[in-house]
Amino acid sequence: MAYIKNIGIIVKLLRKEVSSFQKPMSTEISEKTHDPFKVLVSCILSLRTRDTITYPISNRLFAVADTPKKIKDLPLKKLQEIIRPVNYYKTKSRRIKEISKALLENYHGNVPNTFDELMSFKGVGRKTANIVMVYGFGSRHHIPVDTHVHRIPNRLGWVKTKTPEQTEEALKQIIPQKYWSDINDLLVMHGQNICQPISPWCSKCLIKAYCKRIGVKKSR
Ligand code: SF4
Repeated sequence: MAYIKNIGIIVKLLRKEVSSFQKPMSTEISEKTHDPFKVLVSCILSLRTRDTITYPISNRLFAVADTPKKIKDLPLKKLQEIIRPVNYYKTKSRRIKEISKALLENYHGNVPNTFDELMSFKGVGRKTANIVMVYGFGSRHHIPVDTHVHRIPNRLGWVKTKTPEQTEEALKQIIPQKYWSDINDLLVMHGQNICQPISPWCSKCLIKAYCKRIGVKKSR
């Protein structure tokens, strides 16, 4: 399969467009802490919860417990109380404790740096495993696909996919690998601020000239 035409220009325009936007939480945590465990935990907390809620809650948790040992030793009720504002906080509390215990028992308290090992933890799906590989370990071999990274390539006409898994596979075929580690960041910021789910800001979009606007019925 051929690479997307003008991908280099599109990436350059997206970099320019997002330069003033708030970075996604995983990037912020990665840049500030360089800690795969914090990237993993904050990503689990972020599932079905906005970054604006998850980021302060992650920091509140890490101020109390920021290692597998400290989280394992934290009473479940206390953990639940700290992360209560995130959706599904009870399930997420259990998962974070289970993962912390497994890391201590099987990985000397370290987060494993392979995609398959990460996927073996209950509560860790493809998106989370890919995020930990890219933002926790700096891998250039993965593309995390969330709702924005699934929606936008379909609107642009790059892919015609029904699930994030299909999008991940398709993007790997049509985007040169040198852009893989950037594409999540760029599309998440573009999606949060410009190419929003309902009524995207096409009038402000720097990559409009390269977009087929598939399925866009209403825009600003
Ligand atoms: S032109 Fe509109 S639909 Fe296309 S990428 Fe830009 S904001 Fe999204």
